[in-house]
Amino acid sequence: MRTVYVNGEYLPENEAKISIFDRGFLMADGVYEVTSVLDGKLIDFDGHAVRLQRSLTELGMQNPISKEDLLEVHRELVRTNGINEGLVYLQITRGAPGDRDFAFPPEDTPQTVVLFTQDKPGLADSAQSKKGIKVISIEDIRWGRRDIKTVQLLYPSMGKMMAKKEGCDDAWMVEDGYVTEGTSNNAYIVKGGKIITRQLSTDILHGITRAAVLRFAKEAQMEVEERSFTIDEAKEADEAFFTSASAFVMPVVEIDGATLGDGTPGSVATRLREIYLDESRKMAI
Ligand code: PMP
Repeated sequence: MRTVYVNGEYLPENEAKISIFDRGFLMADGVYEVTSVLDGKLIDFDGHAVRLQRSLTELGMQNPISKEDLLEVHRELVRTNGINEGLVYLQITRGAPGDRDFAFPPEDTPQTVVLFTQDKPGLADSAQSKKGIKVISIEDIRWGRRDIKTVQLLYPSMGKMMAKKEGCDDAWMVEDGYVTEGTSNNAYIVKGGKIITRQLSTDILHGITRAAVLRFAKEAQMEVEERSFTIDEAKEADEAFFTSASAFVMPVVEIDGATLGDGTPGSVATRLREIYLDESRKMAI
């Protein structure tokens, strides 16, 4: 049985409890981070800690745990649960004021901090990354602050189900004719060797993997253009891929039924995945 962390305690997962009045449960008033684990080490912990602080600040929430303590909890859970390849999920909510009220509770209300691990053997060497995945496009009807990593994941969940129903793996969301991002990842196309991905704004999550991949791409002298693109442009692209902390760089081989290239992962996506995994392993802590 897994050991999880709840508000300062390490507990077996079946003994871990939070209040029914928790604002994460009642109002989706919480933020989260997912950090991947390779070789038993954390990938880009600093990036996730910085984004967590930003999400909390944007929502006027306190940060109830120091970065040093957070790192310690991550490491302890990875160690105790014997995770070699997998994920650490972290969620912080505005706490449980003991009743339901739209107004934020007093600032001294204890917040909820929960962390747990997910064991994912074969994460780096996934079969999907060798085959590539298929996406559909759906309208992006999420709220306007997608740069804050909140636990409001109902529409992304629905998007994944819509994709599944069509025999696909994921959905790319489209707003005003342009792709914003994937349901749980950032979207890219490659045309004439150039990597194109949407510019940062409040319209998308500022992916930690995105930042690293763009840095590695530039270091490898690959051309990067940060701008919006349409689904029609994506269908005509040489290749496509997405990035996220849990999938790294994932090739996309079909968009709304249109096959990209020869229907196998493109060379740019494949190379970026290799570079990302190599470099991330070197920097893991
Ligand atoms: N966009 C969305 C909507 C996401 O949910 C995620 C992953 N949580 C990402 C992008 C990718 O971000 P990261 O690389 O930090 O995992």
